[in-house]
Amino acid sequence: MTESVLPPPVIDSARLTAYAYADGDVEFTDRITLLVGEGERLERLGRVPCLAISVNYYVPGDVLLMFCDAQWNSKGVIAFTTVDEAKIKAERGYRGITSRWVASPYSDEQVADFLRDVYEVDPNAEWWKAMCSFCGNEAEGQCVSAARATICAACVDKFYAILHDRGAGA
Ligand SMILES: [Zn+2]
Repeated sequence: MTESVLPPPVIDSARLTAYAYADGDVEFTDRITLLVGEGERLERLGRVPCLAISVNYYVPGDVLLMFCDAQWNSKGVIAFTTVDEAKIKAERGYRGITSRWVASPYSDEQVADFLRDVYEVDPNAEWWKAMCSFCGNEAEGQCVSAARATICAACVDKFYAILHDRGAGA
């Protein structure tokens, strides 16, 4: 048995609500189709060891089911409107996970401390607006923001290349 890592209070730009380990007798059914990757390299996400349910800071009320690696890096996300919906979907792909969910142990204060210490942002500011909604990196320098999303210069370049440079040389 490997030692399980506890999830952080915030993953990307969403606050943790509940988490579960897809180990032991949890059966991966492969019934959730989730494409991840970039451009033409999209591939179906396979089994992950850790699942999280979190609430998006960008879109309050947006409940995210996050498929994470053993270090709680999110590999793919599906959005829902309720935690129950997210749990039902998780059960569809990971049979037996319903009984594994653990509520986030973090208080508001601990979340604020984490944001200050690890993200180095002001927890009372709209810090998530400075993070790229697409790659999760800090969108420093040139970036574009709309009401619900921010995109960094690197992602703009990447998506531009995908849309306009298909088949052309490097
Ligand atoms: Zn980006």
